[in-house]
Amino acid sequence: MRILLVEDDHLIGTMVRLNLETDGYAVTWHRNGEAAISTFAADRFDLLVLDIGLPGKSGIEVARATRKLGVGTPILMLTARDDVDSKVAALDGGADDYLCKPFSMPELLARVRALIRRSQGSLEVPTDQIVLVGGAAVDAQRHVVRARNGEEADLSDKELSLLLLLARNPGKVLTRADILEEVWGMDASPTERTIDNFVVKIRRWVEGEPDHPKHVITVRGWGYRYDP
Ligand code: CA
Repeated sequence: MRILLVEDDHLIGTMVRLNLETDGYAVTWHRNGEAAISTFAADRFDLLVLDIGLPGKSGIEVARATRKLGVGTPILMLTARDDVDSKVAALDGGADDYLCKPFSMPELLARVRALIRRSQGSLEVPTDQIVLVGGAAVDAQRHVVRARNGEEADLSDKELSLLLLLARNPGKVLTRADILEEVWGMDASPTERTIDNFVVKIRRWVEGEPDHPKHVITVRGWGYRYDP
């Protein structure tokens, strides 16, 4: 298991590396975001442990950059303060989990194990087969969805991407920022309202009762969660 650690604080970095290595992880440690991004682009890691406050590029910018590289490596963000703003910033920035400083090493190790377990359980969705999302069958090759009620509809690229994004992330909260980045990417940014409208449309396919969704769940203040 390989972990990329990005932390500018010498003492914390030393402690984290030592504890991870003692637990059997191979650790690459960078003190700044630019170096971390180049290393991440060139190599494979099972987890990123990322300090939010870095000189130069911030942890948030590093998280965004690594997400853009299109790899689903989980990110554990280390936040400086135990306040709501820092947590929201971390999760919105693409972190899968966060830990507030000061934290205990056993807690760090437990979070690391949980994230790696979760990411290894997550299934990659092959694009050449039918994928079930809630009650709907998505044919990624033909760009068609067969809704729960048996009706078929053609899918736009973005509708298909959103369905596959949900299928790839069962049980995980996807923020609107995640969805924007994964589905719209570099294209002209839609408003959050646009995402909500897409979800309304998708619910008509995947839900038995679209007004009482059981599969594409609104997580108030965050975004959406897909429950298979
Ligand atoms: Ca720092």
